[in-house]
Amino acid sequence: MQRFVTAVFSHETNTFSSIPTPLKSFGRYSGGNGPVSGDAAVAAYQGANMPVAAYIDLAEEAGAELNFAIAAQATPSGCAEDTVLEHVAEAVCEAVRAGCDALFLDLHGGMVTQGYDDPEGELLSRVRAIAPDLPICVAFDFHTNMSKATAENATVITGYRTYPHVDTYETGERAGRTLIRTLKGEVDPVILWHSLPLLTHLNCQTPSRQPMKDIMDKAIAAEADGRVLNASVLGGWPLADIPHVGVHGVIVADKSQLNAAQSLLADLMEMTWERRDDFFFAVEPIEESIARAKDMSEGPIVLADHGDVGGSGGSTDIHAVLAEVIQQDLEDVCAGPFWDPDTVEQMVAAGIGAEVTVQLGGQTDYPAIDFKGEPLELTGTVRRITDGKFVVTGPKNTGIRESLGVTAVLDIGSIEIVVCSTRHEPYDLGVFTHAGIDPARKKFILIKSRQHFRAGFEPILKDVVMISGPGICTSDYSKFPWKNVRRPIYPLDRELDPKI
Ligand SMILES: [Zn+2]
Repeated sequence: MQRFVTAVFSHETNTFSSIPTPLKSFGRYSGGNGPVSGDAAVAAYQGANMPVAAYIDLAEEAGAELNFAIAAQATPSGCAEDTVLEHVAEAVCEAVRAGCDALFLDLHGGMVTQGYDDPEGELLSRVRAIAPDLPICVAFDFHTNMSKATAENATVITGYRTYPHVDTYETGERAGRTLIRTLKGEVDPVILWHSLPLLTHLNCQTPSRQPMKDIMDKAIAAEADGRVLNASVLGGWPLADIPHVGVHGVIVADKSQLNAAQSLLADLMEMTWERRDDFFFAVEPIEESIARAKDMSEGPIVLADHGDVGGSGGSTDIHAVLAEVIQQDLEDVCAGPFWDPDTVEQMVAAGIGAEVTVQLGGQTDYPAIDFKGEPLELTGTVRRITDGKFVVTGPKNTGIRESLGVTAVLDIGSIEIVVCSTRHEPYDLGVFTHAGIDPARKKFILIKSRQHFRAGFEPILKDVVMISGPGICTSDYSKFPWKNVRRPIYPLDRELDPKI
């Protein structure tokens, strides 16, 4: 019987964020107390829309024994502690040392620790050092910053081709099937990779719209018609002050397909570079965005505050946009979730139906951008208290058990505000419906997200207004103290026009 090893190692690190990332935060979908392995890991991910769920199914299909060495996944935040990498690398290397025929990795690719700007490349290098010929496949997030070490030490690489990420299982399946063909001797894969010095805006990266759509469609077509084994374009994760930040193309080709693969990669990278100015988002003052929304007649309308996003390392406790919504008297609004465990505790102590005055949020400072948090005083009624748990029913992470921690709803008359104990980017209606709020019946839905909300919310929406609120996920890159990115890089050095 063949022996496969699998592992999940996932964190999107906003290197400017001051929110700490210790080892214990790496149990996001598996109970919240750090990484898990074996049966506990299988229970957390099996059947879900996640890459590793495809690996579990492929191992079963192949009749192979599967060792789930470790599942370590945390909500985006600041640089992770180095012990996280040491812990995960040791678990994976130990499983490999015990003997295996193939390694199936589910990695984010946007992680940075305090001492390593490329933990995924480091992990792969360590595995390679002990198993030089081991077939290794990796499914990466669309927001991967891919390094040379990663490209050189894997056998097969695929990346998500959607944002919101709804092709996660499929990405694992694409990687896993090519690796299994390799094991059978049907193909002899090589990896071609290129990285462009381009800091795109997350609001303008999605493959479902231009400028990325044509580029990704070209990659998808080349994989579908068999010109290459796998083709992926990675939009990259721009809020990372590291040398290998950028937009990346990665092609897996059989050795017989080398010429086609080289020309495909060159085409994809040239198209991206030619369109580089279309990847930038124009920032609008908050007051103008809210006024524009107020003039819209039909809801639900999402007000997407993308400066303070939990899924991009934000604290989700900045309320500048909420304050403006109150100031301009918008009505029939649901908002949240805002991260504020102290306020939740106060509301739980007061009890359902009690009137409370709270100091909401504002607990986080970001020295990197000279931002100081300030709370917002609000008076309202405690409408509901929940355990914050729900199972995702929308297309992103379908089947995963999410948790906001203990959660409470503050009703201030015009707005029902969800306040939670664990930072979260809303991508599924469950954030509101589990607390008895039906967002489909609201005129406005104020959330902190820039793209992932579309997965669960788009079917109920009439419109979306993007709002450039303050925070560590701002689209104004001039606010960040860049020190370690490669230079020149676009758009920080706009005169740049390197040969690609
Ligand atoms: Zn992503």
